Amino acid sequence: MLSERSLRIKPSPTLAIDAKAKAMKAGGIDVLNFGVGEPDFDTPEHVKEAAIKAIRDGFTKYTPVGGIDELKEAIIGKLHTDNGLEYAKDEVVVSCGAKHSLYNIAQALFNPGDEIIVPAPYWVSYPDQALLNDAVPVFVQTYEEDNFMLRPEAFEAEITGKTKALILNSPSNPTGAAYDRKAIQALAEIAVKRNIFVISDEIYEKLIYDGTRHISIASLSGEIKKRTIVVNGLSKSHAMTGWRIGYAAGPKDIVKAMTNIQSQSTSNPNSIAQKAAVAALTGPLDFISVMRAEFDRRRKVLVNGLNAIEGVSCLNPNGAFYAFPNVSKFYGRIIGKRLINSSLDMATCLLEEANIALVHGEAFGDDKYIRISYATSMDNITKGLERMRETFSNLK
Ligand SMILES: *Cc1c(COP(=O)(O)O)cnc(C)c1O
Repeated sequence: MLSERSLRIKPSPTLAIDAKAKAMKAGGIDVLNFGVGEPDFDTPEHVKEAAIKAIRDGFTKYTPVGGIDELKEAIIGKLHTDNGLEYAKDEVVVSCGAKHSLYNIAQALFNPGDEIIVPAPYWVSYPDQALLNDAVPVFVQTYEEDNFMLRPEAFEAEITGKTKALILNSPSNPTGAAYDRKAIQALAEIAVKRNIFVISDEIYEKLIYDGTRHISIASLSGEIKKRTIVVNGLSKSHAMTGWRIGYAAGPKDIVKAMTNIQSQSTSNPNSIAQKAAVAALTGPLDFISVMRAEFDRRRKVLVNGLNAIEGVSCLNPNGAFYAFPNVSKFYGRIIGKRLINSSLDMATCLLEEANIALVHGEAFGDDKYIRISYATSMDNITKGLERMRETFSNLK
């Protein structure tokens, strides 16, 4: 009865784990939730005020499908100031979250059988969005010792006559790795030479540490800009996950196709949230530095704490809000009656033995790791580290 396409995909595992942890908590269990994929900060006050004003002003009707001019102008200004990128209004489209922008790109660009190169570990929605659009995700392994950056030769080796696009995510969910200029330059050169599109998900751009600078691949040359669709949004930078505003910037013909798709599916993104997004992009930026400093503090405590646990190794993540420790040394060991042989076994064990919710690395395409979000209080992090130390020391 159901469509073949609907049977190809699974529900987002990260949202599922978050729901399970919230249910346990509601049931009175003292669960520490490290599964979350959203900032634990409140949306800034001036952004909320702009939304309230929009409601009072009656800005509550349909808007242009691809977003209001005022917001497109704010996005163009942001891309210019932060990324050194120049776009016109017909090269920008606003969607109901960055995830929606990514989906519209897949709808606008992918044909049946097209191959989409996805570096692993990857964000959970990339492969499933390709599958929903009849394309084939092609996974390329990346490694801890390379800071999880895709090796240029590994990228090039996977290119066939059917390769349509590379999906790049820097800083990365789940690894936290941010590409440096040299690494991104090498990928851009190959994409230009082999005429491959790059879908660049830059949603964690503002959450970057240790003096690392975010580089948008589109800014490296005119040639790569022509083949790149930059995706970004307000969810992570302004703690606005519930407002559902994301956007894409890229070649006019692709943006036009995305806008047409939107006109036949969702219509415009929420009018009130668009006004809030204008305030977020044009208003004071101190909120971001406060949030970033707090994430940085937690990151250090969490990563140091993890590395101090015998058997755990964790690369220092220079972006986003996740630690991605390697726990594969414990595989083959037993706790109670439980044999740990995979990241799912490990995540299940931590949930049931220690009331710690986190996401198994296999969901992101690498079974050696688990993903721990530090978008939670320092108190939870300290408690969580203690519980993990305890659980791991009981593994025989
Ligand atoms: C959170 C997230 C998104 C989606 O953000 P929305 O704008 O809320 O849809 C996209 N990509 C990655 C890697 C994310 O972690």
